[in-house]
Amino acid sequence: KSTRNPELTLSIQLVPFGAKQKLLIARDISRVEQLETVRRDFVANVSHELRTPLTVVGGFLETLLDHADLSAEQRRHYLETMLDQTRRMQRLVDDLLTLSRLESAANPLQEAPVDVPGLIKRLLAEAQSLSRGRHQVRAEVTTDAWLMGSESELESAFGNLISNAVRYTPTGGEVVLRWETAAEGVCFSVRDSGIGIEPQHIPRLTERFYRVDRSRSRETGGTGLGLSIVKHVLTRHQGRLEIQSEVGKGSTFSACFPASRVIARKNLPAAVTP
Ligand code: ADP
Repeated sequence: KSTRNPELTLSIQLVPFGAKQKLLIARDISRVEQLETVRRDFVANVSHELRTPLTVVGGFLETLLDHADLSAEQRRHYLETMLDQTRRMQRLVDDLLTLSRLESAANPLQEAPVDVPGLIKRLLAEAQSLSRGRHQVRAEVTTDAWLMGSESELESAFGNLISNAVRYTPTGGEVVLRWETAAEGVCFSVRDSGIGIEPQHIPRLTERFYRVDRSRSRETGGTGLGLSIVKHVLTRHQGRLEIQSEVGKGSTFSACFPASRVIARKNLPAAVTP
């Protein structure tokens, strides 16, 4: 490791060269080291995320096995908690698989015209059921533009932004989905009147497992991977994520796409024209 530049790591090797000479080979392995650190942190995070629910399930199973005299109510409580924890592990594994598919070079984007206004209609219904009447949820669709891209990936990215807005907005708040033209092309945005985010956290939100408030994320069923999924999907669509937020007032997450991805309705092929 260089003492002058802690970011720099050199691998140094001395190898025989000819009869009497030696060859000094110095290789810059800083990038390899950085990647190794990222990989190690990721494995540690995943293990930690899985260990907690596994401990709960294991402990409750032991209690159920050892205590035949539990009341029906107690048994039910243990079983429901185990089901909750199992679902949490399921969500984590699903998100991990989604991320690994999005990162895989062997999985190029499967493109087709996507009916975004139609997709938003479906997502609005899902958002309303997710909110269970606790928020005012509505959509403002001001363009009928479609997008060239992967419907399932866009659905997963938009769905993550919506579920965050619902999860981080207290009862009585508002969640608004928008689809509109913008200077660069089109934007899908989700505005909420929720808890908001302090500015210093914003640049790190798309890192895997980065959470502002770990316990709030867990209580509401978060995996800490939602915004990394969003970022990957947007990158694959040449899009970008814009985050505006004010603590105590709410946040707006916008997924914006370049004009080159937009299909104006008149240009849709006959086969997909609604
Ligand atoms: P999580 O599963 O924890 O929600 P995400 O990757 O989706 O993971 O989001 C990362 C963090 O960003 C969350 O833990 C939360 O602190 C913050 N966050 C995301 N969306 C919102 C929002 N709409 N309002 C407030 N905070 C948010």
